[in-house]
Amino acid sequence: MANCYHHSLSSVKKWGGKPEDYQAIHDWFDESKKIMADFRHRALRHHAEGCFACEKEFGVAIKNSDGRYVPVRLIAERHIIEDLGYIPSMSDWFKQIKPTKWMMRGGYLKTKDLIDDKNINKLGVRI
Ligand SMILES: [Zn+2]
Repeated sequence: MANCYHHSLSSVKKWGGKPEDYQAIHDWFDESKKIMADFRHRALRHHAEGCFACEKEFGVAIKNSDGRYVPVRLIAERHIIEDLGYIPSMSDWFKQIKPTKWMMRGGYLKTKDLIDDKNINKLGVRI
């Protein structure tokens, strides 16, 4: 889904109430678009830990305008599934980071077991 409002409409379809009952939660998830405007912003909160962080931010449940209590984590999980198709772990995102020299400053990977051949280690970094 491209827009938080559409996530809110989806939440209304699932749990009732009005879009504004859910808007703050969906806005919180996609707030990282102000850091990076493309899909990569999702690495910040679109994962299992993000669901728990969302719960910490908004509480265990919200009461929608129909008077129904909806668990925040379910709203969070649905948001991520709508965006990604499943709920990755934070480490799934981290595994996609291509290590570069500036990231490893002070901690270069020189261990022999990380070396596949003489020029490229297992992380794909040319050494
Ligand atoms: Zn999103």
